[in-house]
Order: sequence, then structure tokens, then C-alpha cells
Amino acid sequence: MANPIPPTTNYIGIDLSGRSLHAVLAGGDGRVLESREAPLNRDQIVAQVAGTVAELRNLSSNVDAVGVGIPGLVNRETDRVLVSSDLPSVVSSDFHSQLMKETGLRVELENDANAAAYGEYKVGVGSDSRNMFYITIGEGIGGALILDDKLWIGASGCAGEIGHITIDPEGIECVCGNTGCLETVASAPNIVRRANERLDRDSTSSLSRLAMNKDFTAADMAREATNGDDFSLMMIERTGKYIGTAVASVINLLSIELIVLGGGVMEAGDLILKPIIEEARRRAFQPCFETTKIAATKLGADAVAIGAALLARDTAQSVGSSLPHRANN
Ligand SMILES: [Zn+2]
Repeated sequence: MANPIPPTTNYIGIDLSGRSLHAVLAGGDGRVLESREAPLNRDQIVAQVAGTVAELRNLSSNVDAVGVGIPGLVNRETDRVLVSSDLPSVVSSDFHSQLMKETGLRVELENDANAAAYGEYKVGVGSDSRNMFYITIGEGIGGALILDDKLWIGASGCAGEIGHITIDPEGIECVCGNTGCLETVASAPNIVRRANERLDRDSTSSLSRLAMNKDFTAADMAREATNGDDFSLMMIERTGKYIGTAVASVINLLSIELIVLGGGVMEAGDLILKPIIEEARRRAFQPCFETTKIAATKLGADAVAIGAALLARDTAQSVGSSLPHRANN
């Protein structure tokens, strides 16, 4: 039998950044008490989020607020989602007002990478640091910057968009309109695209077990690499080199004490973390590299949801003053 939910004030965090809706009921200390996962229903997002919140509130009557991580640009002053190529319906409608109405709770929206960074910073691998850059590598690639204990969002609100820095000026077109962004080579769908292109033109790689499965995913590649498949391993190492190239630029620019890597692609573990660190070491200015720690996520697949729950917690405690951990920039 599961442990009873403690009668403390709890928070719900919801992650809408992937193919599924991932929700946690978190204690005030960020500990996950319960979680839910279901395929994301893009046509009925408000109803699905409200239903999940109701389900979790049945387990705990002391839920104070809900935080939602959105794959897009969020203006937290106006609570509007400004851009989201994955979830256009949350841009065209007043998603925030609808969620408040349907759940009867205070709701905080935040960009998914910012939410994950906040979670890692508060209760994850960054909990001993004051300065941290977070990179999430999954369906897309996002980033967030915490400087001197504050989330730094930049003049436009989109600081930290490491997925859209150029890695290959001759590369393919990105969803952002640029060509050769990091995302066009290292996001999960693009790792699969590169692997398929290689399988098509290189007959020896067809010996890979991947070639037997037409619809393989980046997670399948990570599993096959772990099982010793040379082709999968090579593709993951090359992906790590692309990411490491971008990490070297972050190190040179910020000389930040900690870089945290999360998102589904990092589930390949050391197979991808090692080439990232090696490439960053090779390309970064050495005094900067030596003072930067590069680490994998501690919160894993819960990072966005836990971070969103903690943002909801901290905004609750600062209502009437300024938003928590927000730079005045
Ligand atoms: Zn781009």
C-alpha cells in the first residue's frame, strides 16, 4: 500500500512539454508524493489538465496552487503564452484564465526549461549553487539561466535559448527560421532523422539492430547503444559532440559554476554525458572549463513538473510582492 499523503500544504506541477502530460503532487519540500502520466490530448488540454488536477486533489485536500510547464514563451507578468509551436491552442486562447476557472486554484504558467531549471536549482543537482545554466534535450532543446539566485529571462523573456544557437551554418532549416541550430542535429527527432539518413546511405550500418525497426526512437537508440550496438553508440557520441560544442560556448561566455543537462535524450546517461564533457573540454577556454561542473539532471523526467510545483509554491508565498527569483531585466 502507498504511503498516506501527509496533511501539509501540497502543490501540483504539470509538464506539457512532451508527447504526454506528466503531473506530480509535490510536498512543500518538492518531494513527489504522487504522479500521473497520460498521452497529451492537444485538442482538449484545459479539460485534461483540470481532470488531472481534480484526480490529484482527491488524494490531498490541501493543494494550494498549480504550476504548469509550457513548451513555449510565457509572459509571467500577463500570464499569457506568447509563442508555442507545439501547443498553438494555449497561445490563441487565454489558457491561464481557463485553467483558473476549471481548477478553482491559483495557476502559474512558466516556460518548461525555466521550470525544470528552477526545480534543479531548488531541490536537484543545483541546490548548492547560486549560478547555473540548465539545458533540456528532448523533443526540442531549451535552456534557462539562473544568475546570482535569480532566473534571468533577458529583455525579450527568451534568454537561454541554446537550442537555437548555430552549430552548422550550412545545416538544415530549423523551426525558428534559422539554419543549422543545435536543435536541428541534437533534439530527439533530429537524432532519429540523422540515424535514418545514415542507415539509408551506408550499407554497413544496416547491420545495426536499429535497421530492423522502421519506427525507432531516440530512446530505442539509447537502449541499443547500452546493449553494445556500435552504430547507435556512434550516433549518440556524435550527438554528444554537437551538444558539447554548444556547452563550450556557454562556458566561455558565462564561466558559470554549474551546467545541468536534462531531458529525455540524457536518459542515455554516461554514453552521452561523456562525449559532451570531452567536447566541451576540447573547445572551451581551459581556465573557464576547469571551474565549471557539468552534471546530469537529478530530478530526471520529473524536473519540469517539480519545478512548476515549486514556482507555484514560491509565488504563493510572495503574492503581493514581486515574482520569485525573477531578474529585473
Ligand atoms: Zn532554431
